Amino acid sequence: MEILKLGIFQLKELYKKKEVKPSEVVSLLLEEIYRRDKDIHSYLYINEKAIDQAKRVDEKIEKGEDLKELEGIPISIKDNICTKGIPTTCASKILENFIPPYDATVIERLKEKGAIIIGKTNMDEFAFGSSTENSAFGPTRNPHNLERVPGGSSGGSTASVASNLCFASLGSDTGGSIRQPSAFCGVVGIKPTYGRVSRYGLIAFASSLDQIGPITKNVKDNALLLKIISGKDKMDSTSVDIEVCDYLEFLNKDLGKLKIGIPKEYFVGGIDKEIREKIFEILKILEERGMIIEEISLPHTDYGIATYYIIATAEASSNLARFDGVKYGYRSKNYENLMEMYMKTRGEGFGEEVKRRIILGTYVLSSGYYEAYYLKAQKVRTLIKNDFEQAFKKVDIILTPTTPELPFKLGEKKDDPLKMYLSDIFTVNVNLTGLPAINIPCSFSSNKLPIGVQFISPYFKEEILLNLSYKLENELKGGDK
Ligand code: GLN
Repeated sequence: MEILKLGIFQLKELYKKKEVKPSEVVSLLLEEIYRRDKDIHSYLYINEKAIDQAKRVDEKIEKGEDLKELEGIPISIKDNICTKGIPTTCASKILENFIPPYDATVIERLKEKGAIIIGKTNMDEFAFGSSTENSAFGPTRNPHNLERVPGGSSGGSTASVASNLCFASLGSDTGGSIRQPSAFCGVVGIKPTYGRVSRYGLIAFASSLDQIGPITKNVKDNALLLKIISGKDKMDSTSVDIEVCDYLEFLNKDLGKLKIGIPKEYFVGGIDKEIREKIFEILKILEERGMIIEEISLPHTDYGIATYYIIATAEASSNLARFDGVKYGYRSKNYENLMEMYMKTRGEGFGEEVKRRIILGTYVLSSGYYEAYYLKAQKVRTLIKNDFEQAFKKVDIILTPTTPELPFKLGEKKDDPLKMYLSDIFTVNVNLTGLPAINIPCSFSSNKLPIGVQFISPYFKEEILLNLSYKLENELKGGDK
């Protein structure tokens, strides 16, 4: 049991010393998943074949061969990232039986380093949501308190890491879906700069916002995974050809006195009192460590949610047009002609939130309203981007709470989409600008629920995010050094 609590580097050390075999770790993990995941429901699919792969790593160790960077490390994958031969459903009935014939680029890169895919994790259907309650296959629960949500939409991934039912996970973040559930589950989750990681094989939600990123138990593991999955990919023309920093090596760099900006707009109204207090404690720690804290302003902050929900739904309505019962997935059984087949397939295959977003997205793109909504939203997006650009002329990093609230109860917001949408108030602007940001677990509330802090850096400066996070983590709990 204790073994499952280890980070990737500690596990690698045990393999090296031959203190435990990869096949033993995988069997233990599978046993634990079957025993404990009944309550949490972080997994939609468990990969039994993982054990054969682990046995091959056993043999390599036996023969004294060197292991690759992730060899024998079990990793879970959000179910909107294509895995060859392993079902990929987006937690939707419409893709219930879909088995991709190819691997996403991030999966190929993990496999090249020897990672073991242990299973596919639950999510809000098509990544639409903030609680993982929108899954067509039932919700995931927060491992810290089973009455509470794990956040979303990558709630299955963050819950699987937080409950030690894998050693790390990959999620996707369109408006906060890595950072918000990482905050709710008390794990480290990064949304890289748009273009840093290939989206090839990620089932698209909103193509101008989506990014894949690692979710881990500690910062060092996150740096390792990010290094492996980052970089130009010829299969994704929006991936950028900028050299990938050695994030691991950079962790120990002394960056001197960083200037940290605190946007005043993130501390007004609605924010939970305990979260606010804890964030101020973090500021004090950073100040004591020699950082310079400065108040800044991001004046268009309040427009973020409205802008995001126009752009994200517009892109989603277009991306989801491909699910029509012809090429893949579910097809209705009762139809008389082609049009009826499309309509019934989509009517029966999509859940409520997916339909809501397709309707909203189609509306904002319709010829009569395009200028009033979509075009306007794109202009506001530029204003939000300019706010951040101005701010980064003054400071190196921006610090905010990751979420305005603690993990809420299942059912609490499910019937009130607007309330649910507000969960992302501190994360969506980062996606609208394309900037990178990370969630670091920083504390617990009085009722023992995790609280997270978010760092945002300039474009392609993930190494600074990780470096600062590593320092904070060591300060708070010793980390995995
Ligand atoms: N919760 C946000 C939404 O519902 C963000 C989702 C995401 O990042 N995939 O759209």
